[in-house]
Amino acid sequence: MTKIQAIRGMNDILPEHSPSWQYLESRFYQVVRQFGYREIRFPVLEQTQLFKRSIGEVTDIVEKEMYSFDDRNGDNLSLRPEGTAGCVRAANQHGLLYNQQQRLWYQGPMFRHERPQKGRYRQFHQFGVEAFGMAGPDIDAEIIAVSAALWQSLGLTDFVKLELNNIGSADDRKAFGSALTAYLEQHLDALDEDARRRMHTNPMRVLDSKNPAVQAVLSEAPSLKDFVNADSVIHFDRLLKLLGGLGIIYEINPRLVRGLDYYNNCVFEWTTNKLGAQGAVCGGGRYDGLVAQLGGKATVAAGFAIGIERLVLMLEELQLIPEQVKRPVDVYVLAVGAELSELSLQVAAAIRTACPSAGIVSHCGGGKYNSQVKRAFAAGARYAVVLEASAEGEPPGNAKLRILDDSGDTQAMAIEAIPAEIQKLLCEPSE
Ligand code: ATP
Ligand code: MG
Repeated sequence: MTKIQAIRGMNDILPEHSPSWQYLESRFYQVVRQFGYREIRFPVLEQTQLFKRSIGEVTDIVEKEMYSFDDRNGDNLSLRPEGTAGCVRAANQHGLLYNQQQRLWYQGPMFRHERPQKGRYRQFHQFGVEAFGMAGPDIDAEIIAVSAALWQSLGLTDFVKLELNNIGSADDRKAFGSALTAYLEQHLDALDEDARRRMHTNPMRVLDSKNPAVQAVLSEAPSLKDFVNADSVIHFDRLLKLLGGLGIIYEINPRLVRGLDYYNNCVFEWTTNKLGAQGAVCGGGRYDGLVAQLGGKATVAAGFAIGIERLVLMLEELQLIPEQVKRPVDVYVLAVGAELSELSLQVAAAIRTACPSAGIVSHCGGGKYNSQVKRAFAAGARYAVVLEASAEGEPPGNAKLRILDDSGDTQAMAIEAIPAEIQKLLCEPSE
């Protein structure tokens, strides 16, 4: 029979890589806790309408990337392509936003039918934060500071760059869009099919074009900057000052528009040159109109999403995963002879009690001493505890503690002394 394969672009995360994920997750949890954010969990499946109404009908995501289907009741559902829409839907539905401020975070798989390549998958994972009910630029600075704190905590600060833009209000962009469409109409012959279609439905998306001919035309096009309202300009200037005060370095990128319609005012992206073409590791901004657009009481908001796979790739390529994180097993307890298996389970349990943070494996399945030692090495253990049978009919008396390196040093001791000895070696507080 042929083997069934995973769906293209949907990855298994194997034990070799899961420590990197756990490490990254634990650092993220620590940072969001430091900033007072609380976790929210919501389904991976929602009404398709939710994403159409929030992300926008004429966006790459909604036009061609969603996994949508009719379920058995005939409801049209979609796997979530991002987290903000579901987060807002859930927060609205449960009254979390009504005259309140909320600092929330989420994590989980997202689904987009894109062309799979390094750093771009069909099931991928994001961390996100969303802050509701705070209108000033201070909350924008705060969420950017959250992402900066994560880079700091992971040792990535020198490898990422912050780009910012002010995209104004929905009305500003409408006025700019009309001007852009009028301009593009005068340069039809230089546009490709995508640009011609978009110039009427969502002209700002033409700015994202990768086609050099289209980009050449755009260099003379009207600039969004000239359409942004005065309040947005003040807000953005204050944000820049706040970032300066926090020592967060940024670049203004007037071309940064983001691929989702719900953003306004400040948008940002963290990029890296360590991942080739897939350089964006985090994207976000304000979305003051979205809550009302999804049927809630008007509530201002800002948030970002981080691509977990891309960060894991970076951390692994830059060798920033600490060695101890990768070591699942510290001690391997060997029991040569079937009559010792009960003792070996007990000794392993006693070591776990004495040293709860260590990983202790007690050998299962019997076998000769040499083959058990091989397993201990293969498991990556630093120490082997070798339980020895005494003379025929006698209870086992002694154990050997063996350091698993090339020296092969061993130390004989009473079995009762083993847990305390390992505690001394592995679990003594370092300070
Ligand atoms: P890109 O420009 O790379 O397509 P995006 O603007 O579509 O990114 P967002 O919707 O802002 O991405 O999502 C936030 C982050 O999620 C991105 O910065 C990226 O790190 C990650 N991401 C987005 N799409 C994918 C994907 N298909 N596979 C892996 N990570 C992704
Ligand atoms: Mg994309």
